[in-house]
Amino acid sequence: MLLPILKYGAPELKKVSKPVDCFNGELERIVKNMIETMYAAPGIGLAAPQIGLNIQLATVDLSVGEDTSQLISICNPEIVSKDGEQKSEEGCLSIPDFSDVVVRPRTMVVRGQNIRGEEVRIEAEGLLARCFSHEIDHLNGILFIDRLSVLKRNLIKNKIKKMTKSGEW
Ligand SMILES: [Zn+2]
Repeated sequence: MLLPILKYGAPELKKVSKPVDCFNGELERIVKNMIETMYAAPGIGLAAPQIGLNIQLATVDLSVGEDTSQLISICNPEIVSKDGEQKSEEGCLSIPDFSDVVVRPRTMVVRGQNIRGEEVRIEAEGLLARCFSHEIDHLNGILFIDRLSVLKRNLIKNKIKKMTKSGEW
């Protein structure tokens, strides 16, 4: 089932999400819908707050469904270590049509649980590290525009404000 993706302005996007502690059929159903929604968008990552659920859950697939081996669903992700930095243009499904250069760690090790509650550890670099950093930010109520300079952030915020007034957002 496709789920509506919340846009900037929705309060859920600013909240710190609660840990997932129930690894049941309900969680499986949510993850299945999130993956479907992520692919349809299309996007390479989706965090539960973006579909209005403030739980620590994210899905990532750099291949956007082309290669199922790249699909990762992770609960309670935690950055164990990170190294270096990368600068690249980044966007977000919750802030459509806006993008900017965001600095992210070049590599990182992420620890968390899969949807069965089993411990997982992922070594990510490049785009995957960027994606994990972006999704984990979502679980802490942080958006990519929060990582821009005040000037750039306000430019985007003001444009969104105008679009909201005219009903385009
Ligand atoms: Zn995002």
